[in-house]
Amino acid sequence: MAASHAHGQEPILRVHSQRYIQFLSEAWARRDEIEPGLEHVLPSHFARPQMMRYPSGMIGRVGFHMADTSTPILETTFAAILASAGVAVNAAEEAVSAGYAYGLCRPPGHHASAESAGGFCFVNNSAVAAAHIQQLIGGRVGIIDVDVHHGNGTQSIFYQRDDIVTVSIHADPSTFMPYYAGYEDEIGEGAGVGFNLNIPLKHRSGDAIYLESIDHAIEFCASRGVEALVVALGLDASEHDPNGALSVTTQGFLAAGRRLGATKWPTAMIQEGGYLSDILGENLIAFLGGFEESRTSRDGP
Ligand SMILES: [Zn+2]
Repeated sequence: MAASHAHGQEPILRVHSQRYIQFLSEAWARRDEIEPGLEHVLPSHFARPQMMRYPSGMIGRVGFHMADTSTPILETTFAAILASAGVAVNAAEEAVSAGYAYGLCRPPGHHASAESAGGFCFVNNSAVAAAHIQQLIGGRVGIIDVDVHHGNGTQSIFYQRDDIVTVSIHADPSTFMPYYAGYEDEIGEGAGVGFNLNIPLKHRSGDAIYLESIDHAIEFCASRGVEALVVALGLDASEHDPNGALSVTTQGFLAAGRRLGATKWPTAMIQEGGYLSDILGENLIAFLGGFEESRTSRDGP
């Protein structure tokens, strides 16, 4: 497992704007500008698409940089964000040097876009890892997001790029977070056309369709010429997850790990969602065990 390590902000600034990271770093210190004695920084106003001005005041900035109310900033939040992104960078480096690595990133990242927190995410760790691997190897990198929620932040960061391929497998967002993205007709823009794939699944659809979708995602990445992979490893597709949107079993996670492990690509697995259930840890062990089994058997006699 990759440890956290101080890498500075450079890997983060490849996928987020300077002003957003500055906002995250100073939000706690500037909380009195919102209201004296605040216990945490949360938005009360939200910038909508037609509201384009970047305001100087803190109430406006909080709403500009937060998509919902799931990302309160407290005294140690920024330190946690940097540590989590550091784990992702280390996982990326280890994936390139040793073949694969798992990063237990907390807070998670895949709902964070270049300038916005949301869905418990501040910095997009999977995007940081992918951009870091891309920097290290110079080749195209794929991201396969298997979290039950669409990786909307990751999609938006790379939507106009063809050097990082984004695929997300998730529960149909028409009645499920993140609601506003994650549909099949979102295929990328400009140079990125044909480099984004969304696979929304019928709710409670189970193992078989989840695994078929992973095969499809791997084929898509292969057809786009990726040379390394980031797995945005959410475990909330579990049949026992409180989200209850897909019904993947522990055997399903084992099989998913085996399939992704059977690819030849250096792979960084970055922890995304996974809500509390008795089987959460077992599902992680099953996925990583399946992945490792495929890698070690391929290298065997
Ligand atoms: Zn999730």
